[in-house]
Amino acid sequence: MSAAATAGAVLVLNAGSSSLKYQLVQPDTEEVFAEGIAERIGDHDASITHEQAGSKTTEIRAMPDHLAAVEFMMGLFAEGGIDLGTAGLSAVGHRVVHGGRTFYEPTLITPEVISEITRISSLAPLHNPANLIGIAAARELLPDVPSVGVFDTAFFHALPDAAATYAIDRGVADLHAIRRYGFHGTSHEYVSGQAAEFLGRPYDDLHQIVLHLGNGASASAISDGAPIDTSMGMTPLEGLVMGTRSGDLDPGIVLHLNRVVHLGVDQIDTLLNKQSGLKGLCGENDFRTITEKMDAGDESARRAYDIYINRLRKYIGAYMIQLGRVDAITFTAGVGENAASVRADALADLEMYGIRIDAERNALRSREPRRISTADSAIDVLVIPTNEELAIARQAAEVVGSSSAG
Ligand code: AMP
Repeated sequence: MSAAATAGAVLVLNAGSSSLKYQLVQPDTEEVFAEGIAERIGDHDASITHEQAGSKTTEIRAMPDHLAAVEFMMGLFAEGGIDLGTAGLSAVGHRVVHGGRTFYEPTLITPEVISEITRISSLAPLHNPANLIGIAAARELLPDVPSVGVFDTAFFHALPDAAATYAIDRGVADLHAIRRYGFHGTSHEYVSGQAAEFLGRPYDDLHQIVLHLGNGASASAISDGAPIDTSMGMTPLEGLVMGTRSGDLDPGIVLHLNRVVHLGVDQIDTLLNKQSGLKGLCGENDFRTITEKMDAGDESARRAYDIYINRLRKYIGAYMIQLGRVDAITFTAGVGENAASVRADALADLEMYGIRIDAERNALRSREPRRISTADSAIDVLVIPTNEELAIARQAAEVVGSSSAG
């Protein structure tokens, strides 16, 4: 492929503790040149799945660290005809989970920015260190391409004080930066923007609820162009029932698990983040498997589903009251985009609040933004595929464009 085609493209990196998701995308035209994911980084049998120019390959091999994964990824790009070093990339856009109180705009990565992200890593000890490793790998292997950090908390940085503040001792909270930050911000911002576009209405006039239901899940209430509440808090553990995370629980349970059950903090962390949610309830975190099991009469899958829906409805109800008037409710991410039963059950029997789902429209499978409410529903119910990579690429390109212009 000629470098002219990829000139200005952005390489988006989303580095997890043992994984690396990536995509090379042209922010203006939305053309995706290649994408993939490396998993089990650090193991001798790490895998990388790479898709480029219509062909998809999976390779298993040892990848001791993220640097090796990025190096290997660059090799796969080259085999497909793209030399990332000379492709004319405008930026590498990095998803960074926690921006703390410091970062609420996409930010050009400099040594000072790296120091600050490192300093606030204690707020997201499982996530930010991995993001930093991705940043270091990109800076080493693509030294001429600027890196930009796009923060998952940014969209929610100006939550109203009443929504952002936990009712604990103010001195302790202030000293330790304990507040609600919110996550999945890139997705909530992108999807709510797409919803406004789909409805042909100004973003700033709309009252919206966005339900990002993937393996992680979060809800947000957006009023007149700004979020007024969201379900994730200081960490991505609060809120909805998720694939493996508990979501809301009585904080007394944590004390009990430590004091009476004698679990250490790391064990409690693993229990609540990795062994709870749908997985903890029925042994499965993949919604497709849960639906199949439910259809086959499995009681624990049914119970997990009911608990999931109950929590979701609780948040929808709360946000309807907080917003006062609701124009649109939008489902997104793996479950939200694909599981018609979740959408139907989350909004069942709410005709008296102006919500009517059209069963036929809801059952339709599509990758396009669509309306699933009836023509006479007072509230528009939408399904809009999220695209965090594109959103990150656009924001990164904008930062680089404005810094080179200035
Ligand atoms: P995400 O984190 O956005 O990639 O979403 C992952 C979740 O979406 C998993 O629980 C998947 O089971 C679920 N999902 C993906 N496709 C479907 C589908 N066709 N029906 C139900 N759930 C799905």
